[in-house]
Amino acid sequence: MTAEQPPAAILWFRRDLRLDDNAALHAAIETGGAVVPVYIREPEGHNIGPLGGAQEWWLHHSLEALRKAVRELGSDLVLRTGAAVDVLADLAHETGAQTVFINRAYERDEQDRKIAADLDAKELRLTAFHGKLLHPPGRIKTGSGGSFKVFTPFWNAMQKLGEPREPIAAPTRIPAPKHFPKSQSLNSWALLPSKPDWAAHFSDLWTPGEQGAKEKLEAFIGNHLHDYKRGRDLPAIDATSNLSAHLAHGEITPARLWHATRDLPRSAAENVGHFRREVAWRDFCYSLLSEKPRLDEENWDRKFDAMEWLYDADEFTAWTRGQTGYPIVDAGMRQLWKYGFMHNRVRMITASFLIKDLMIDWRKGEKWFRDALVDADPANNAGNWQWVAGSGADASPFFRVFNPVLQGEKFDPDGTYVREHVPELAKLDKKYIHKPFDAPPQTLAKAGIELGTTYPKPMIDHGFARDRALAAYKRLRGAAEEG
Ligand SMILES: Cc1cc2nc3c(=O)[nH]c(=O)nc-3n(C[C@H](O)[C@H](O)[C@H](O)COP(=O)(O)OP(=O)(O)OC[C@H]3O[C@@H](n4cnc5c(N)ncnc54)[C@H](O)[C@@H]3O)c2cc1C
Repeated sequence: MTAEQPPAAILWFRRDLRLDDNAALHAAIETGGAVVPVYIREPEGHNIGPLGGAQEWWLHHSLEALRKAVRELGSDLVLRTGAAVDVLADLAHETGAQTVFINRAYERDEQDRKIAADLDAKELRLTAFHGKLLHPPGRIKTGSGGSFKVFTPFWNAMQKLGEPREPIAAPTRIPAPKHFPKSQSLNSWALLPSKPDWAAHFSDLWTPGEQGAKEKLEAFIGNHLHDYKRGRDLPAIDATSNLSAHLAHGEITPARLWHATRDLPRSAAENVGHFRREVAWRDFCYSLLSEKPRLDEENWDRKFDAMEWLYDADEFTAWTRGQTGYPIVDAGMRQLWKYGFMHNRVRMITASFLIKDLMIDWRKGEKWFRDALVDADPANNAGNWQWVAGSGADASPFFRVFNPVLQGEKFDPDGTYVREHVPELAKLDKKYIHKPFDAPPQTLAKAGIELGTTYPKPMIDHGFARDRALAAYKRLRGAAEEG
């Protein structure tokens, strides 16, 4: 290093696998020194829960895409395994870096504070930036300075703040160090499943990486946004952005979404408003998570600690495999298994079925989703499971029990979604597609269905299950009032 040349800076990529609108990258380049981009595979326990299987598949492809993009700008991506502090200290030693730049990942704030302190002791500075959310958590406050527990006032207050910050354009060059530090090979991390390759269909829908995110955003604005408000509740049509997995891996920022939907014709205003409101739910879930970092384990409403959950391993397995005998539930669970994704409306129906029809603790469902979803997100997943369970902030009340037949008939009226994901019911008359158990024998025979053989009989009677759930809730409330 010469006197005029500033020291190298380490850019530590985490859940922000992008070059566009990346404040940490921008700041690292601004130092004027070489930039050393690194992704660290931290041992289990160094993250908020291990990364789920579906997200490991995503991570492999996303890192491949990021490495290609970084190389195109004259640099490279270092891959290392180990505790973050050790890896960063080694890299600093190898490159002469004195600062590590990161974008904040609020789910690991506590862990990052410790890392910052440990690095400090080694004379390495950790500098953090915002970008993951529309507004940093804690910025949106009630009149008395507290945090919101209800979404609508949170959203109203957010809109009063005005537009989120302008996104920062991707750099055109990343200055590289003279000698690039050694990297592990991505393949050696064995992130992709094999024997069996349960992710075989993921690439039918997903192109991990920044470019894939940009294409999804353009397709959404060009083809689907105009019908978002009506279409977003109908699982048979492609009406939503499909950006959640890209957001979860930080391949695109919500500020970019906000600004991309800014200068559209006035006729789009209502749908744009609805879309932004959904994106704001993500901020809301993160504001809850910042208040309760173990949102995936602790009931927001502690009264639910006394809920009398049941657990039957065979019932749980039938739910995970889409073999409950309720077509809309089975379609959702099979969509999840095949594509690592499930439509939002059906997430609510399948979660309600697990929690209220089977009385299985929401935490079991949250973990299953976390492993199976490509968009698994510590705030959104836990926040939404608690919303369905009734244990969350601003949650749907427990006594609102979804009827899987009526939900199916309302949101998948022709049964198109069920026919796609539960092919053994494909030929069934529309009238019975959400309740094959009510179909006359000749109707079933005509569709080639034998209940209990080609497709399961309902694993539980919904009316009985509903009464059982409401009785448990009544006891819970009674106990809370007495206590
Ligand atoms: C039980 C359950 C579990 C869920 N788990 C997750 C999860 O792990 N990760 C995840 O990103 N979303 C989760 N969601 C929320 C929602 O289902 C998905 O964000 C949405 O289906 C993703 O599709 P999309 O990108 O096309 O959404 P769009 O309708 O296009 O919405 C745009 C973006 O807004 C955000 N968003 C939309 N709805 C919600 C919501 N209810 N809460 C928070 N953010 C929202 C997402 O980032 C989404 O990508 C869950 C919902 C339920 C009911």
